[in-house]
Amino acid sequence: MSLPCPRPGFGLYVHWPYCTRICPYCDFNVYAAKDRDPAVLLDAVAADIRAHAQAFRELEGPLDSVFLGGGTPSLLGPAQIAGIVETAHAGFGLGPGAEITLEANPRDVLRADLEGWRAAGVTRLSIGVQSLDDAALAFLGRDHDAAAARAAVARALPRFASVSIDLIYARPGQSRESWADELQAALALGAPHLSLYELTIAERTVFEKRVRRGEIQPMPDDDQAALYELTQSITERAGLPAYEISNHAAGPQHRSVHNMIYWQAGDWIGVGPGAHGRLTTGQGRIASLAHRRPEAYVTAAASGQPAWASHERLSPLDTAREALAMGLRVESGVDTARIETLAGRALDTAALEDMQANGLLRLRGGRASLTPQGRLLADRVAAEIAP
Ligand code: SF4
Repeated sequence: MSLPCPRPGFGLYVHWPYCTRICPYCDFNVYAAKDRDPAVLLDAVAADIRAHAQAFRELEGPLDSVFLGGGTPSLLGPAQIAGIVETAHAGFGLGPGAEITLEANPRDVLRADLEGWRAAGVTRLSIGVQSLDDAALAFLGRDHDAAAARAAVARALPRFASVSIDLIYARPGQSRESWADELQAALALGAPHLSLYELTIAERTVFEKRVRRGEIQPMPDDDQAALYELTQSITERAGLPAYEISNHAAGPQHRSVHNMIYWQAGDWIGVGPGAHGRLTTGQGRIASLAHRRPEAYVTAAASGQPAWASHERLSPLDTAREALAMGLRVESGVDTARIETLAGRALDTAALEDMQANGLLRLRGGRASLTPQGRLLADRVAAEIAP
């Protein structure tokens, strides 16, 4: 199965699962960095990249993006990052304008050799600011304060082609006014990309236990929706409209190339503990999941094969449904003919009409896209119209 043009892109995701401490809301695959030797995992990541290159010679490089996410990959120094980038380059090639993103903790940004990271190939820093309110940062269990976050962004901006800030809003008890002030303050920092996430209480987190004990009251859905709408109007006025449900950019050149690969159903290799991948091969589209525990991952990577805990060939229908659900998240929506070609059958016409009549979906120029109201119900719309 080959995907029609325009080429949705080809990326490499590297999951670095270690953090100096574990935040109480986090449900990512993370482990305390204490006493861990990064060299062991770095060797495994390199072996896994090489194993993918060997197993999938048919994949056409060069890579459009490399994303070092986590966890906290900003615990890695320039030489360690350069090693990953060089292995990726040797395996698949890196396009001349390839985006290389490093997720970074503000404290690491303040003490790191930023020129070294840049020389290692990093073009884009995604900084986990999370809040500009000290009390909120303490609530979120972060190891930095607002002053450190501001200083980190100021230090990064002149040194990288693009800088993104992550913020978490819809926190318990957060008022419209305080979020508006905080968002304005974040915009004033001058980063050309913002990722704005509503706080979700995920299973098996410290916050979930606190909710069960009645210590935390999650924000009601209606209040969250009101803050989402407020977020859209403030960011639009500031020239950073949403190009995806939670992501905002000051122009197309600042959009995340890597995340667009996910949203446009491109191909990506996932390495590192617990990383997901999607690869379109002669045998169809492969969904892979790497071993989650670092020890199991390291053992698997030593075999010379991709360090997968599991993989499956997605059916054409599952491929199409995933492409639809992800593609609807983007402001430009999905090419309906592409979804139908992938599925081998048509979208649900009655549901399409229904969603339009309810003001949740637009159909224009062969593309289906969510209206501002539809963005609040993206998963439901995708499920309703699915082929
Ligand atoms: S630093 Fe990020 S990845 Fe690590 S525990 Fe906190 S939220 Fe999760």
